[in-house]
Amino acid sequence: MNDLSMANTATREAFDVQAVRRDFPILSQQVNGKPLVYLDNGASAQKPTAVLDAMDRYYREMHSNVHRGAHTLGDRATAAFEGARETVRNFLNAHSTREIIWTKGTTEAINLVANGLAPRLKAGDEILVSHMEHHANIVPWQMIAERTGAKVVPIQVTPQGELDPDSFNSLLNDRTRILAITHVSNVLGTVNPVADMVCQARARGIITLLDGAQAVPHFRPDVQALDCDFYVFSSHKLFGPTGIGVLYGKAALLEDMPPYQGGGEMIERVSFERTTWNVLPYKFEAGTPAIAEAVGLGAAIDYLNRLDREAMEAAENALLERAHQLVETVPGMSIIGTAQHKVPVMSFKIEGLHPSDIGTLLDQQGIAIRTGHHCAMPLMDFYGVPGTARASFAFYNTLDEVNQLFTALQKVQRLFA
Ligand SMILES: *Cc1c(COP(=O)(O)O)cnc(C)c1O
Repeated sequence: MNDLSMANTATREAFDVQAVRRDFPILSQQVNGKPLVYLDNGASAQKPTAVLDAMDRYYREMHSNVHRGAHTLGDRATAAFEGARETVRNFLNAHSTREIIWTKGTTEAINLVANGLAPRLKAGDEILVSHMEHHANIVPWQMIAERTGAKVVPIQVTPQGELDPDSFNSLLNDRTRILAITHVSNVLGTVNPVADMVCQARARGIITLLDGAQAVPHFRPDVQALDCDFYVFSSHKLFGPTGIGVLYGKAALLEDMPPYQGGGEMIERVSFERTTWNVLPYKFEAGTPAIAEAVGLGAAIDYLNRLDREAMEAAENALLERAHQLVETVPGMSIIGTAQHKVPVMSFKIEGLHPSDIGTLLDQQGIAIRTGHHCAMPLMDFYGVPGTARASFAFYNTLDEVNQLFTALQKVQRLFA
C-alpha cells in the first residue's frame, strides 16, 4: 500500500471519455442551473477520485512527520512521500530522485532557481526569456537582474504566436547566461521547439530552464532527452492538489547552488560556528513539507499513467480542431494563437465585446472559461488587447462541450455585440 510506484505497472485502461469523467466527481454538477462545462483547465485542473482517496487515506492511515525515523507512522508517511518523489522522477524520466525538489509550485521553483543562480551573474550578463512568458517566468528574473546588474531580454513572438527563430538567434550571444522559456504558452497554447533551443543554448554554455506548467497536463516531457538544466511544473494543473510543485534540476548544478530557505530538514549540522547543508534533494526543502500533497500528486501521475496516452492526446487534438472549425460560426470572433503545434488552449476575442463580459455571460450558462491578461501582460501588449477570453481543455472534456461553448458564444454575440 505504501509503494505508490507499484501502480506504474498496473494494466493500462483504454481511453473512454465518459468513463474518465466519472473519475472526476466535481464535473457532474449543475452550475447556475446548467450542467457544468469546465473549460478553465489552464488555470487549474480538476482532481480524480484516485487523488482525493489517496490524500484521504494518507491522513486516515499514515500521517506523521517525515524523515524522523522514530516510529511506524513516521516510516509510513516517509515511504508514501518518497514514493511520490520516485513517481515524479519516473514521469519526467529524471536520472535520480536527488534531482526532484518539492516546491509550492512553478512560481516558487523559478524563484528558487533564480536565487540559486544569482551568485553566477554579474553586471551586463543577459537572461533570455520570451515575450510569451507567464509573469512567474519574468518577474523572478527581473528581481535577480536588479540585484546583480544583469539584464532580462525577451525573444520576440510572431503574430501567429510562435517564438521568432530569427529573434532567438540574434539574441544569443556571449553575454547570455540563462535561457528561461515556457515549454507551452498558457495563453496561446503554442508548444515551443524547446529541444532545439536548449541544444543551441547548451552549445554556448548557457544554463537552461523550461517552464512546464502547461506542458505536463498534455504530454510527458523527458528531461534527459530535452537535456535542459531545470524543468518546473505545478501539481494543481496536472490534476493533483494545490500547494505543491516540482523543480527538476541537474544534480551538479543543484549541488553548486546555495540553499533557498534556511530551517529544519535542509541542514546536516547546525552550530553557531558553522552550519552545513543536507544532501540533495533535502538541501532545498526547508521545513515540514507538503506531505499529503506530494502523495496526491503521486496519485495523479499514477492515474494518468493508467490512461492510454496516445488516445488521450488524439482526443484532445479533436477538441481543439472542432473548436477552431467552429470559430467562423460566431461573427466577429477571432483566435489569438494559431501556431502549427498547439495544445488544446484557445484564446479568442469577439468584436464589440469585452472579454470579462464574455466570461460572465458564459458563466450564467454553466460554462467556465478564463478572461483577463492570464499573467502575461507583455503578450497582451504585443497583441494590443487588454485581455482575452480563453477556453482551455483537458482530456475529460467532450466534443459536445465544445459545441455547447459555441452555441453559448453565438447567443452572447447575437444579444450583445
Ligand atoms: C500557471 C503557470 C505558472 C504559475 O504556476 P503557479 O502554480 O501559479 O505557481 C507559470 N507558468 C505557466 C506557463 C503557467 O501556466
